[in-house]
Amino acid sequence: MYWTRTLRARTAVLCLAPLLSVTGCGAVSSASTVSSASTASSATQGPPAATEARAFPAQVLAISIDALNPRALTKLGRDDVPHLWRLLDEGAGTLNARSELEMTLTLPNHTGMVTGRRITASKGGHGVTWNDDRAGTTVQRAAGHPVSSVFTVVHEAGGSTALFSTKTKFSLFERSWPVGVDRSLIKEEQDAALVKAARADLVQRDRAFTFLHLGIADQTGHASGFMSPAYLRAVETADTLVGKMLAAIDNHPDLSDVVVVLTADHGGAGESHSDPKKLANYRVPFVVWGPGVDHGNLYAMNASYTDPGTSRPGLSGPQPIRNGDLANLALDLLGLGPVPGSRFDVRQQLAVAAD
Ligand SMILES: [Zn+2]
Repeated sequence: MYWTRTLRARTAVLCLAPLLSVTGCGAVSSASTVSSASTASSATQGPPAATEARAFPAQVLAISIDALNPRALTKLGRDDVPHLWRLLDEGAGTLNARSELEMTLTLPNHTGMVTGRRITASKGGHGVTWNDDRAGTTVQRAAGHPVSSVFTVVHEAGGSTALFSTKTKFSLFERSWPVGVDRSLIKEEQDAALVKAARADLVQRDRAFTFLHLGIADQTGHASGFMSPAYLRAVETADTLVGKMLAAIDNHPDLSDVVVVLTADHGGAGESHSDPKKLANYRVPFVVWGPGVDHGNLYAMNASYTDPGTSRPGLSGPQPIRNGDLANLALDLLGLGPVPGSRFDVRQQLAVAAD
């Protein structure tokens, strides 16, 4: 499990109200306890205090930098992408995680990140195999059955969620989980404006889970070639925007409990990222940073995962860290169980702190 050092600051603050009222500071009040508390409050103290607000051990900010080939990080280095390297230098990470096995395309991989599922529907996957904005589609229709997500689990546990994306095709998520996604903001190919909004939301709201998708590197890669000079400049821009989120975290005491999980949907080299059998496409970074997270290589910290070298492991046998681990790691960080029906890290074993 994740926590060896649990941050309790936020929990402590939120528990002041319950100490003055009837309920205790349990993570989840039972229905009868809530009922009696409400009755007592309404009878003697006016409106009930916000005692039912769920306190989580962290806030999770998931960031996906679309098409972030880890080679861009090593090529640019700490001088040119300081914020991404800060996450690596202070957090637990690897530059050798894997995308979904079946496809290295944007929407299938992001759906994997939020559901913890593989792609192929006939094998329990989410079934999202398209990569454009298709009105009326849902993950549930793609899979042929109900599919839960990190948004659903967090919302049902009393937490608030938000999605910020630079691609309209991400509207799939609010259609699929209209209750679970509390806020969905899409600004097509406007990374800077999106980050401004996401940053304001992070500061002003108390989201348990926020997903931020930055598309500028992918967009530039398609226009000018992945790993081209223009693409590398776009990665620098993405780094600057990540830095704005980190500055908000640094500067606001209320955000001292934010844990960042940063990964990518796929990499890319040359003209494309569509061949799932190419190393440049299936290799992605995966970095976790924040309170309670130790610095280190995720493979060194997790004996149950195997560094795949340059290989592309299938879904049986020793497993690499995958971008699809994001959902259940995020839930673990929040003290919640896994996404029902998920596959990646379903036992929530991925550790980000040294024992
Ligand atoms: Zn993509």
